[in-house]
Amino acid sequence: MAIDVEPWLLGVPEGWHALLRALGRDIAAVCPKATIVQAKEKFGELRVYLSGANRAAFDRVDAAEQRSRSLCQRCGRPAQLMVDDGFYATLCPDHGRGFVPVKEAPIVTLRVRFRMDDDEDGG
Ligand SMILES: [Zn+2]
Repeated sequence: MAIDVEPWLLGVPEGWHALLRALGRDIAAVCPKATIVQAKEKFGELRVYLSGANRAAFDRVDAAEQRSRSLCQRCGRPAQLMVDDGFYATLCPDHGRGFVPVKEAPIVTLRVRFRMDDDEDGG
């Protein structure tokens, strides 16, 4: 049994379809009740969002997203993140013609934690 990834293949580049299908099987193995609420390409990386998932399922997603950074999104061959005029894509040398390799990921993720303390509001 596998998570149903078929509805999401349309929004995911063809080179990552095998990766997404494998992820569906991996998630089903560790968390059968999890469902995919969205799967897409963003900044040359596979993004998969889950509902009802456990830690192990999220770990599988992290691994697949990591893997997508080295697979051509057009053909699935070894690739790297490339950019052309602000458009990011993970592409093999063939499909990356006209693109320039990117040295650093375009995304900076900040996790900010803060406390809400209503008692010290003071007005
Ligand atoms: Zn390619």
